[in-house]
Amino acid sequence: MDEQRTDTKLRSHEEIAARVKALESLMIEKGVMTTEAVDRMADAYENEVGPQLGAKVVAKAWTDPEFKVKLLADATAACAELGVGGLQGEHMVVVEDTDDVHNAIVCTLCSCYPWAVLGLPPNWYKAPAYRARITREPRKVLAEDFNYSIADTIEIRIWDSSSELRYWVLPQRPTGTEGMSEDDLATLVTRDSMIGVGPVMEAAK
Ligand code: FE
Repeated sequence: MDEQRTDTKLRSHEEIAARVKALESLMIEKGVMTTEAVDRMADAYENEVGPQLGAKVVAKAWTDPEFKVKLLADATAACAELGVGGLQGEHMVVVEDTDDVHNAIVCTLCSCYPWAVLGLPPNWYKAPAYRARITREPRKVLAEDFNYSIADTIEIRIWDSSSELRYWVLPQRPTGTEGMSEDDLATLVTRDSMIGVGPVMEAAK
């Protein structure tokens, strides 16, 4: 479940969890949903929907220029072509890393995240420290918290997601991967590289 707001009051995670549990019990009681269906959905987001889906999309963009254009123009539609999408994947926007620009994502308000391509968000993504600091001092946060140094000559852009708009990053294809297949390329794409807080893996020598 994602964030809920009433006017300016932000609900606590405990309160949301309690409400979700209550709603789930009610739906099961009324026969709208079964325990199995709920378990099935939780299981899917824990085990099936994960960064391997985003990695597949990135590898496709690295090898198919036409697909890349589509991905940057309408990420949700482009992902749907590959059978990737669904809950928390509506209105995705992909931002492209280049030689001059490095991108990273955050949700400063809460924890909006492109679940459909990255799975469940890591705990640090939801932590107030990351959310507050990544916008103020991104270079420092990346270097200190993630051991990821971005050269001073590269501009860092931070993209603030919301439940209406979920950003994620198309990292640069690593050098020395010219002969690699799409499937092999996908294995180089890390979750952190699609958040913008870590590199992709290097090609095996
Ligand atoms: Fe959020």
